[in-house]
Amino acid sequence: MIWNETMECMKREDMTKLQGIRLKETVERVYHNCVPYRKRMQEAGVTPDDIQSIEDIVKLPFTSKKDLRDYYPFELLSVPISEIVRLQASSGTTGKPIVVGYTRKDLGIWGEVGARCFTAYGIRKQDVVQVSYGYGLFTGGLGAHAAAETVGAAVLPMSSGNTEKQIMLMHDFGSVALACTPSYALYLADGLKDSGIPREEFKLKIGAFGAEPWTEAMRKELEEKLGIKAYDIYGLTEIIGPGVGYECVHQNGTHLCEDHFYPEIVNPETGEPVPHGQMGELVFSTITKTGMPLLRFRTRDLTSLNYETCECGRTAVRMGRILGRSDDMLIIRGVNVFPSQVEAVICEMPELEPHYFIEVDRVNNLDTFEVRVEVKEEFYSDDMSTLVGLKKQIAHRLQSVIGLQPDVKLVEPRSIERSQGKAKRVNDKRKLV
Ligand code: ADP
Ligand code: ZN
Repeated sequence: MIWNETMECMKREDMTKLQGIRLKETVERVYHNCVPYRKRMQEAGVTPDDIQSIEDIVKLPFTSKKDLRDYYPFELLSVPISEIVRLQASSGTTGKPIVVGYTRKDLGIWGEVGARCFTAYGIRKQDVVQVSYGYGLFTGGLGAHAAAETVGAAVLPMSSGNTEKQIMLMHDFGSVALACTPSYALYLADGLKDSGIPREEFKLKIGAFGAEPWTEAMRKELEEKLGIKAYDIYGLTEIIGPGVGYECVHQNGTHLCEDHFYPEIVNPETGEPVPHGQMGELVFSTITKTGMPLLRFRTRDLTSLNYETCECGRTAVRMGRILGRSDDMLIIRGVNVFPSQVEAVICEMPELEPHYFIEVDRVNNLDTFEVRVEVKEEFYSDDMSTLVGLKKQIAHRLQSVIGLQPDVKLVEPRSIERSQGKAKRVNDKRKLV
């Protein structure tokens, strides 16, 4: 089913026109109501009159995460605080968080885009939806909550944590859908197994997973462990939160709500647009939000866009799986390594649990690269020579995929720390020096 056929299946030509009109309105809005944007545009020598169609967007300067820090907390708002009805923030790794303000209209948009996602996954008004993303400043919980409520489903606002209770209520209330991070879903899968309750007694069939990068291999793992179909949901606080993009039943890319969030792909080093279909950094402009519109925001997420109409009938552009954020990329002995590449290798091997941890350090001017991974119970008890063989096999697979051989450490099942929100899977000790 499709929540908003007009927008999700609009002819490309009409969409381009609509995006142009909405961009122009947004540019007017920020130019007249937001001092930092007006200054930026004046410095770049652009006025709202220069923006007549969506193609003109390239005349506008970029916005970065640093701008959100510099104008902390409210300078990037385009309305007085009296119009703001919600504040959310993202953790940010250092110092101050990033703050986003929503008007009532913005909250409506958030519910609308969320409803498109949940409808695409097959969630209906008669379903119980268990929201196990954290509630609070993090947009995951309240975003998924608004999505489920807009669809008219019965929302179970669990937030993250308290795994036993999650399983109990999932069972007793008959949750049909589970919304949480893929790493918390893994955690819950273990909890489900430990509960001893037979799988047939659960109604769960849909996972709405996102807020962190996850691989195709991880999808398989989750679908098998939980006995569900797992869908991707994408979003980021600066743009609105979860609901910026979603997978349809064909799972051949993540459809973007491009009538609200206009996407571009640029070369992460030069900022120049890359040719259609090529990989680069995703950039978004919000073209309907009123509280804190952002123009050409550099997400640092690396992906590509596909403008072909999808088998589901939606014309909404699809982005490929996110390889990672450009700042998640590790450069080890000169080789570029994304944690998602390590994840793909680990999930492929039947002897391993999908839990891993990467540690990078520098000893005597040489980078060290260690990958810790859990062995499944039934393999862990095996004799030493099997384990040594397995270790070699993992190291070789990783070598062939990333071009670098890590020092592999096999650890006991359940010994790597589990995450209830976004997983932390890397410790780059070189950064501390
Ligand atoms: P923070 O920046 O503190 O992590 P956000 O929740 O705003 O806070 O994080 C948004 C980021 O999370 C995105 O830019 C992207 O890197 C990542 N992300 C969110 N959803 C997905 C997804 N479905 N797949 C891959 N990465 C995702
Ligand atoms: Zn589709």
